Amino acid sequence: MTVARNIASKTFRRLSDLDQAALIRAEKRAALEQVAARYAIAITPAMEALIDRGDPNDPIARQFVPDAAELDVTPQERADPIGDHAHSPVAGIVHRYPDRVLLKLTHVCAVYCRFCFRREMVGPDAEPLTAAQLDAALGYIAAHPDIWEVVLTGGDPLVLSPRRLREAMTRLGAIGYVKVIRVHSRVPIADPARITDEMVAALKVEGKATYVVAHANHAREMTAAARAACARIVDAGIPMLSQSVLLAGVNDDPQTLAALMRALVECRIKPYYLHHGDLAPGTAHLRTSLEHGQALMRQLRGRVSGLCQPTYVLDIPGGHGKSPVGPCYLSRDDEGRTQIEDFNGGRHCYPPPS
Ligand code: SF4
Repeated sequence: MTVARNIASKTFRRLSDLDQAALIRAEKRAALEQVAARYAIAITPAMEALIDRGDPNDPIARQFVPDAAELDVTPQERADPIGDHAHSPVAGIVHRYPDRVLLKLTHVCAVYCRFCFRREMVGPDAEPLTAAQLDAALGYIAAHPDIWEVVLTGGDPLVLSPRRLREAMTRLGAIGYVKVIRVHSRVPIADPARITDEMVAALKVEGKATYVVAHANHAREMTAAARAACARIVDAGIPMLSQSVLLAGVNDDPQTLAALMRALVECRIKPYYLHHGDLAPGTAHLRTSLEHGQALMRQLRGRVSGLCQPTYVLDIPGGHGKSPVGPCYLSRDDEGRTQIEDFNGGRHCYPPPS
């Protein structure tokens, strides 16, 4: 049964909010108190409005409403699944690859995803970067001329005020060899009202290319308001890409994945990454197998436009970086000849160089 309700006017941050909004069941409350004591909760009005209370497997609820299954931590899971700490020379910086760094301006997000790979680091109680730490982080970038690209992440950089964002962008803009600033955010879709003209203006820096990479996992997230927010960004000349996480019970079937990728492309957002779920604590119920992910990528290939194909990637646990883990279409036959598989599963010989 769908519960009739008014659309919330505030972000839900407490279990009592979720209780009142009929998003959790009373018998789960004790277990959820333990989850809430450990991991932050935030569900924006935009995301809350999408949840169908009548569907016990609602894909939006599954992403944001805490679940008692989060208390089950498997031996393989780890607090820092992608090894940020091992590559952090100064607070706020992760320098894993030679030509780019992550700059974490904030640990706060508009929503807290139940599968978050940084769930042990993000939240309203996490220590923000101090002014001195920000100076040191920017100093680190300024002292490393190989850094061509800076990825603003967090937390979510678009929860900052336009003034604070503009200050950070301006300071990055002053570093000559930084040419690209990439902003990773869930805000355009999860809290689209924040994407004001002032916020969009703050993203632009003279002489630098800004890219906004929006995080979305289900086509239903692409509401009219989210589409309008993304259009404001793209119309300002800022290209958009997307990243999605492959999540069991949310988007791990070919129709749902295809609908998401098409919705993104319709909004002029090029699907960039489909992440395999990281080994974050208490997230096993949301992870799929790599084989299932590969099978889904095969089903997308050829059936939806090439524009709709993300790269399926795994962040290797321990901080070894991302590797593509999509299916391989090349093989050898019994006589050692190269075979290429088409999107229907047919195999064809490809001649060696003559
Ligand atoms: S928005 Fe990103 S950083 Fe924030 S909780 Fe979700 S996945 Fe984690």
